[in-house]
Amino acid sequence: MSSKNALSAAIRSIPDYPKPGIIFRDITTLLGDAVAFGQAVDELVAPYAGLGVDKIAGIEARGFILGGALAHQLKAGFVPIRKKGKLPHQTVRMAYSLEYGTDEMEIHVDAVKAGEKVILTDDLIATGGTAEGAVKLLRQLGAEIVSACFVIDLPDLGGRRRLEELGVEVRTLVE
Ligand code: IMP
Repeated sequence: MSSKNALSAAIRSIPDYPKPGIIFRDITTLLGDAVAFGQAVDELVAPYAGLGVDKIAGIEARGFILGGALAHQLKAGFVPIRKKGKLPHQTVRMAYSLEYGTDEMEIHVDAVKAGEKVILTDDLIATGGTAEGAVKLLRQLGAEIVSACFVIDLPDLGGRRRLEELGVEVRTLVE
């Protein structure tokens, strides 16, 4: 099996979750498979080796799992971007668009220093609304966003293009 196929095979698809007509791509099966999880992390970090990345910013909640592993491999720090009201210290807040409506996300005001090189990560990019909010938050703190990476891209939903239009390089492992 090719490496792409092995990763795809490790991701579970759940029909009609969270509502009828939606197919949810569930990476918990990939995370629970030592070989697949290791391969995904190795493939995500490979292009960034030697770039001197300061921080990995992970989007709640699955971006925390990937982000911790990426941070360790790249010898970078880890920074959580959370749904509003969850972070204990002073935060910066940003509205972002969901399929229906909007929500808000936050980052600690001192989580990233101006000029630090940051990679954003999450399990999946769909419309790109969530990642766009995270990019704006990080830039508000003065971060230099080196790249954004995801295990899964749903290309029909346009998220990659949306981030690229913001000047952010996007890397994904499977479609
Ligand atoms: P977007 O904002 O439309 O790009 O949606 C991406 C966000 O929704 C990410 O935080 C994902 O974790 C989550 N998400 C959307 N669809 C799925 C899915 O099928 N599986 C897992 N996460 C998903």
